[in-house]
Amino acid sequence: MIQIRDLTKIYQGSAGEVVALDNVSLRVRKGEIYGIIGFSGAGKSTLIRCVNMLERPTKGSIMVNNQEMTKLDGWRLRAMRQKIGMIFQHFNLLSSRTVFDNIAFPLEISGVSKEEINKKVTNLLELVGLSDKAQVYPAQLSGGQKQRVGIARALANDPIVLLCDEATSALDPATTSSILELLKDINRKLDLTILMITHEMKVISEICDSVAVIEGGHIIEEGLVIDVFTQP
Ligand code: ADP
Ligand code: ADP
Repeated sequence: MIQIRDLTKIYQGSAGEVVALDNVSLRVRKGEIYGIIGFSGAGKSTLIRCVNMLERPTKGSIMVNNQEMTKLDGWRLRAMRQKIGMIFQHFNLLSSRTVFDNIAFPLEISGVSKEEINKKVTNLLELVGLSDKAQVYPAQLSGGQKQRVGIARALANDPIVLLCDEATSALDPATTSSILELLKDINRKLDLTILMITHEMKVISEICDSVAVIEGGHIIEEGLVIDVFTQP
């Protein structure tokens, strides 16, 4: 579903060049949960942000569902981005909009009819367990509830891939577990491919099928979680 080949990203920093990613290659199969783990500064954010072209690679290829992302721009890139959902560490909800309207937002942008939006948002609220919070504002929600809204919003346009950028890092352990369970549930129900970055081993061990360990812009280990993290 996602194939990254020889991806290099060099930033022009004030103190010279920073090689954030150095010839990174990996493959995420359809329907799996793939985790990328590493310390701060390892290159995780850069990597995940290259998948939907929030960051332009310096070199290399990124295929999502057989489309070369680096060759897309304009409406083709926007159309492809709609099919790549993303959730964030700090949720990135619109504080002036209700839960319902936050989830409706990407559908409005896509030009979906009011009737269809009502139907979809109602279903999404049920999926993430927030049916009773539709008219509430983000400030009135707990962190876990905010992330549930983030997940519902990310699923609104029926994505083929879900990107998770440290999605549980701002949450306590119990809330983290419930969000991970929700992601696993969605992965199974929708057969949705999920790519996540994290610095927490718990995230990898609880729900990931495959893992890549990244250090200094290099992938130093990669494979099935049971193979990479099980002692011989
Ligand atoms: P992680 O997500 O694993 O913490 P990042 O991808 O954020 O790692 O960063 C990788 C490296 O690239 C770090 O050395 C970081 O300082 C550098 N970096 C990230 N973004 C920029 C930027 N916009 N300009 C310059 N350097 C950057
Ligand atoms: P996180 O590690 O939580 O992803 P960071 O604090 O590393 O967040 O980065 C926040 C933002 O700053 C990102 O957009 C990243 O690209 C940018 N950034 C990170 N490191 C640098 C850097 N050395 N120079 C310029 N921008 C940076």
